[in-house]
This record gives sequence, structure tokens and C-alpha cells, in this order.
Amino acid sequence: MIASNSTTYDTAAIDGIAMLVKPRGAPELPIHVKWLSGRSPYGRYVYGKHRSILLWMPRHFPRVVDHGDTPGYIGDVVCQDWRQFVIYILAHEHRHAWQDQSGRWPEQFDPTIEIEALNRNPEEWEAQDAELEHDADKFALAMLARYG
Ligand SMILES: [Zn+2]
Repeated sequence: MIASNSTTYDTAAIDGIAMLVKPRGAPELPIHVKWLSGRSPYGRYVYGKHRSILLWMPRHFPRVVDHGDTPGYIGDVVCQDWRQFVIYILAHEHRHAWQDQSGRWPEQFDPTIEIEALNRNPEEWEAQDAELEHDADKFALAMLARYG
């Protein structure tokens, strides 16, 4: 559910989209909606004790969601309006919550564990990270195709 919304986008409408794109089995998490500014990301799944989803909304559309060369993403996405943007980003972050819930979230994302203690090489770590991003992006694109 929408726990806070400091933008002028409609809270109930964002909430409706959030429920639409939440994978079965994913937890219902508090979602905080803020204006996009500077170099902030578009969305984030916050793991651990304060599990939540953060969503940073641009003021203008259409908008190209550019992932740069971050491994795992399928490609840049053009969002024609704010609704498409919310579908795409919330589906992606909810998918991470689902990955976490279903035990697919790797232990190295746990901030309490030192990387050195994990006994894994950085390449392996990056590959797993990219796999989770790819899975989340694939799911988000499917939701965009279905509901966008
Ligand atoms: Zn992601």
C-alpha cells in the first residue's frame, strides 16, 4: 500500500497499479512515492528490517528509462505516460520482493554479511546480481505489455 506520497500523482491510482503488478506470493509492502531529483534511481526495493519499496516519479513524460550498462536489463524502456512508468518500476521492485520472499535473494545482498566472508568471487557475485535484474526486468516488461 502507499505509505506516503509527496508528489501530485494520484495515490489511489498508484495503489491500484501496485496491486495489479504484484507477483503472486510477493509481500504487500509499504510504498513511498517521491519526486525524482538529481541522480536518484527510479525505484528501489529495501530489504531487511524495514522492507519497503521506494518510487521516484519524474515530472514529465514521455520518458526513456535508461539503464546505462547495468548488467541484466533487457533494454531501455520508453514510458509514454506516468501510468506506464509506475507499472514498469513497481513491477520490477515487487519482483525483487518476490525473489527475496522465495529465497532467491542472494545472501550477499544482506548488508550484515561481510563480502570477504562470503567466499565468492566478484564475477560470480555480479553474475547472480545480473540474473536477478534480468528476471525482474523481464517480469516488468511483461506487466507493461499486459497493462500498459
Ligand atoms: Zn532491480
